[in-house]
Amino acid sequence: MRIVDGHAHVASMSFIPRDFVAGAARNIAASGIGSAKAVTVKQVQMLLEAQHQDHHADQLVHEMDEAGVSKTVLLIPDFSHALECPLPITEMAERHRRIRERHPGRFYVFQGIDPRSGIEAVDFFERTIVEYGFDGLKLYPPCGYSPSDARLFPFYEICAKHRVPVLLHTGPTSPVLEFEFAHPSRVDLAAKSFPAVNFILAHGGVNHTADAALLCAYRPNVYLDIAGFPGALHPQGWKQNLRDLVHLGINHKIIFGTDWPLFSMTASTKSCIEDLLTDGGPLDGLPRRDVENIMAGTIERLIPRSAECTRAAKRELACSA
Ligand SMILES: [Zn+2]
Repeated sequence: MRIVDGHAHVASMSFIPRDFVAGAARNIAASGIGSAKAVTVKQVQMLLEAQHQDHHADQLVHEMDEAGVSKTVLLIPDFSHALECPLPITEMAERHRRIRERHPGRFYVFQGIDPRSGIEAVDFFERTIVEYGFDGLKLYPPCGYSPSDARLFPFYEICAKHRVPVLLHTGPTSPVLEFEFAHPSRVDLAAKSFPAVNFILAHGGVNHTADAALLCAYRPNVYLDIAGFPGALHPQGWKQNLRDLVHLGINHKIIFGTDWPLFSMTASTKSCIEDLLTDGGPLDGLPRRDVENIMAGTIERLIPRSAECTRAAKRELACSA
């Protein structure tokens, strides 16, 4: 079966603010307080930083090969208005362009922007689509803005023009950011105002799942991904969380994603995918077509360039036959 990871990041400290990681480390350390496995914030932070040394995505490609993942969507969040960043967002885009050249045919890229960056950011975003060949827009509302903020509308017009999707973070994140803007309902006005643009609620199958699923059921242009699925809070565990999700009648809106490198310290991508697809696993018993759509079909339908690539590849095959 074709597998496309709809949500991942290059695991590099060049693309993530040190304060973001420090906040995540505080949260992880707090969860172990009083237990036999208690660790200090500093220890966790060092581990997280060590996990972010795959600057050219070589390790990620190795992981993809091992797990049978054909392509991965790389997301570049723009934290520049909330936290001190290691590089300007333009340089992050340039480095992702080079990563894609280094690993031809393996990555889609969604460029992050912040609506407070002004009109130059609109031109920059369109350049990443037209000149770099990137495939979508990435938003990180916990940086302090709503995805329905009118300052984003010029970006959505670019998305409509080039038929590329918007993926926005939903749910909690590093405690140094604001969770208030991360509720899925915040996207409703934007989704209603831009019916030609597809919006993907990142982690919608993991956080605020009931609200995310309702939006998917009633807004034709809203989708959700399951990135971070092994971390779902559910009394019967993450597998039951997914089992519940895939029986709501919205399987045509669900997109597989790992959120690499999030769980790379505890499990390989290969084992995560095996847990998903195994007999008795959360997707067991679904029609084959649903599983194919979740694992690759839906995200590739939302990325117009993927269809162009497929058509071009088919033409080439027809010519050489
Ligand atoms: Zn992510």
